[in-house]
Amino acid sequence: MKLVIGHMYPDLLNLYGDRGNILTLKRRCEWRGIDVEVKPIMVDTKTNFTDVDILFLGGGSDREQKIVSDDLTLKRAKNLKAAINDYLTVLSICGGYQLLGKYYKTGTGNKLPGIGALDAYTVAGNRRMIENVIIEADLNGKKFKMVGFENHSGKTYLENIKPLGIVISGNGNNGEDHMEGAMYKNTYGTYLHGPVLPKNPEFADILIQSAINRKYGKKEIDPLDDSFEHITQNAIIKRFVKK
Ligand code: GLN
Repeated sequence: MKLVIGHMYPDLLNLYGDRGNILTLKRRCEWRGIDVEVKPIMVDTKTNFTDVDILFLGGGSDREQKIVSDDLTLKRAKNLKAAINDYLTVLSICGGYQLLGKYYKTGTGNKLPGIGALDAYTVAGNRRMIENVIIEADLNGKKFKMVGFENHSGKTYLENIKPLGIVISGNGNNGEDHMEGAMYKNTYGTYLHGPVLPKNPEFADILIQSAINRKYGKKEIDPLDDSFEHITQNAIIKRFVKK
């Protein structure tokens, strides 16, 4: 079996080690004998998204988000939304997450349009939310904690869409409604940098499993020994979850 990971805008969207998510997906596949090819998708790269199995967008500053917003909405919105509706597996972080929603209104009042695949919008607040975050996720009938680090001023509000999880510690989408991230079909958005996947192997495997299912039909991926991953995850939980 082989999965192709499309890394969107690796030169523009890569904050706080977000690229580590690609390495984690690749390594967890390889440990199971699944081949992986990573395909960079930059502003000039042609794709209609039928040649990738997992798509990744990292975080970025407002300046980079402007370039990405133009490229996504002018050239890619139709094909990308079609792929997302057809259950493509997508992980988007922070600045990338904001642009899969309807729009991101920056602190200077610039409204950057997104593709609207996620029923959510983002407006810059007047304080930056910079903290460790712990959430309780509820995915595929499984509840588990996830940890990460957030750094954003954008406040995201969900409309007719579910969050990725409920905030236990930190701010999440907006610091107000206790929701973190968003999910629609196999597309996920989250503010968790860190990067998010090395410390949250359950989430990494949900992404891999959904991509395998879509490409090869239902084939259960092998379990891995996640004891090291859980040690790092628990260290954060112990520090920030109030008893
Ligand atoms: N520029 C966006 C914000 O501050 C996204 C930042 C990020 O991706 N970390 O909300």
